[in-house]
Amino acid sequence: MGEMKLHCEVEVISRHLPALGLRNRGKGVRAVLSLCQQTSRSQPSARAFLLISTLKDKRGTRYELRENIEQFFTKFVDEGKATVRLKEPPVDICLSKANSSSLKGFLSAVRLAHRGCKVDIPVSTLTPVKTSEFENFKTKMVITSKKDYPLSKNFPYSLEHLQTSYCGLVRVDMRMLCLKNLRKLDLSHNHIKKLPATIGDLIHLQELNLNDNHLESFSVALCQSTLQKSLRTLDLSKNKIKALPVQFCQLQELMNLKLDDNELIQFPCKIGQLINLRFLSAARNKLPFLPSEFRNLSLEYLDLFGNTFEQPKVLPVIKLQAPLTLLESSARTILYNRIPYGSHIIPFHLCQDLDTAKTCVCGRFCLNSFIQGTTTMNLHSVAHTVVLVDNMGGTEAPIVSYFCSLGCYVNSSDMLK
Ligand SMILES: [Zn+2]
Repeated sequence: MGEMKLHCEVEVISRHLPALGLRNRGKGVRAVLSLCQQTSRSQPSARAFLLISTLKDKRGTRYELRENIEQFFTKFVDEGKATVRLKEPPVDICLSKANSSSLKGFLSAVRLAHRGCKVDIPVSTLTPVKTSEFENFKTKMVITSKKDYPLSKNFPYSLEHLQTSYCGLVRVDMRMLCLKNLRKLDLSHNHIKKLPATIGDLIHLQELNLNDNHLESFSVALCQSTLQKSLRTLDLSKNKIKALPVQFCQLQELMNLKLDDNELIQFPCKIGQLINLRFLSAARNKLPFLPSEFRNLSLEYLDLFGNTFEQPKVLPVIKLQAPLTLLESSARTILYNRIPYGSHIIPFHLCQDLDTAKTCVCGRFCLNSFIQGTTTMNLHSVAHTVVLVDNMGGTEAPIVSYFCSLGCYVNSSDMLK
């Protein structure tokens, strides 16, 4: 008798009773699957069972495997999901939330068992699964001191919420990046200097807390990862970040962004693209101005206290070209007509120019030919709750405006006064 185990969620669906509401709407039950084989001298080929044990049914339910599998569905095996369709009884065994590499190993053993091959696996007996085995399904783990940090043991793969604070980490532990079910990762109060791009492979990550670390940047690769679809809360406060890349504004699901106590000298210029952003704090940074796109935000809460805001300049900066260069006029045309571009078509530096083009008050774009003016804006126009900008009771901050032509500047000069 040999045995091999897999921890995952299981849902057994009868194909004969599809309409009876037996489907649990994709909500599996935590289970331990064991693959058991029996060999005897009289029967040279092995008999094999799949035993499914749950917390309620520790002895488990047995399913014959030998020549009894109709089909495997393994399209999502990398996400820890697969289905085994049995001939008799006519059921689909749907597995989910498994560690993908364990799942692959288990499925190939099941496949061998189906063919009647002997699977080379450790020997044990068909005993009921112990309650302790279900502890592998832990979904939350909070570690707040170095001595509790697991060094030899792995993190349970089923974790959805992991906090490791005050552990003196200087980099992100690669074992965390295998936790594909993570929704919330809190690495606050460590000494992390750089984030690996593979954090972007945590496809369900909604909340990332990096408060009080040694970060100097947030990489373009991360901005362009699957975090674009999942990340809602990002705390980068108490780091050493001077600027965020323009691609940061592609993290479109962001609702809550904390940047307090950094060394920011500017916001990413396309910040207005963060259409879901509701809570923004960047207190105690070195912001001299806000970018013109700041006007497009629609926030509930805004805190810009203690920045080094400058007085708006009285005279505008005039950088108009006459006539426009070929680069300027083609860039304007591409952006105005929303013609797609990318580094596979045009040089990378041109993509960067286009990505950081300025938006005129008229809605058109400009690269190098513009008039730049500064004015003050009342922050209440973009946020319900505004923390005072300074100790003087002000809620106004300087904001940059761009004009693509003299005409646009003259028409808006009222606004600048
Ligand atoms: Zn204009």
